[in-house]
Amino acid sequence: MPIYEYRCQDCREKTAKLWRGFDAPKSIPCAACSSENTSRIISSVAFHKSLGSQLQDLDPRYDRMVDNAAANSARSDENQFLRRSTPLSDAEA
Ligand SMILES: [Zn+2]
Repeated sequence: MPIYEYRCQDCREKTAKLWRGFDAPKSIPCAACSSENTSRIISSVAFHKSLGSQLQDLDPRYDRMVDNAAANSARSDENQFLRRSTPLSDAEA
């Protein structure tokens, strides 16, 4: 679903709008001053961002969440993994 952005000609504020249809409206009321004097601008967010810059924009808290989840999972416990493994000497016997 595309996001359309509008620039208010009166207060220069940007207003973004999710639009479900195929044709975006030429103007929408400004979120800041309610002026109808807005014009559509091409969204840099929706179309021109590389994956790399999207990843950089991820909330750093998300990284910590992933780290914590990995640290708490049993599979990341190397010692536990080694204890469960069959020693080479037993495997050959
Ligand atoms: Zn405005």
